[in-house]
Amino acid sequence: MTNKKTYGVIGISNEYRSKKRIETYKFERDEAIRVAFPSLDIASAISHWVPGLGYVYCMGDPDLVDETRHDSSCPMCAANLDSSLVDADGKPLVGKATRRFVMNFLKYFTRGSSIEPAKPVSVSSEVLRFTSRFYNRLLDMAEKGVDLQRTDFRIRCEEEKFQVLVLDDYGPAVWLQDSSIRERILEQFKEDAYPPDVLLSILGRELSERF
Ligand SMILES: [Zn+2]
Repeated sequence: MTNKKTYGVIGISNEYRSKKRIETYKFERDEAIRVAFPSLDIASAISHWVPGLGYVYCMGDPDLVDETRHDSSCPMCAANLDSSLVDADGKPLVGKATRRFVMNFLKYFTRGSSIEPAKPVSVSSEVLRFTSRFYNRLLDMAEKGVDLQRTDFRIRCEEEKFQVLVLDDYGPAVWLQDSSIRERILEQFKEDAYPPDVLLSILGRELSERF
């Protein structure tokens, strides 16, 4: 417990700056961008969509939930299967347990609508949210010997609503080819990238006692 009160004279203090909401990168249909992954700190969580609460971490056995998509020892998995907890269209009010992932990435500024990096090379730090399908694709590439942290990729959006993303290898990472560019961009990335625990908070939260 803190002694802090909910009211008082505060002056000018950074402590009271409103928290910035983390935006994940939203693709438009057919949008294609050139990206790099300087860090493979990937946060992951299995969560349910709960009306009024947003994403809440599944409380089931992760092995069971991954395999069969439910574990009725989790109240939200149970609610998802409960035929009385449905909307007017018969869809479950509580979403099924789904594994999602987030990571920081670099997005290149490119020339016009092409995938060629602008000169001088410049980037922005963004946050990517993705599904198991995309994660498996990263894994497949790594297993084939692609060094994920030293390669550029193209990500293309096939479907906007569910953000269906296609990942393709685009060869050696351009940002690593020149030492002065590398240092500048690495510095920028270190400053802008979110730590893993902050990334994790994008994916959900724990069920409160009051639920
Ligand atoms: Zn669950």
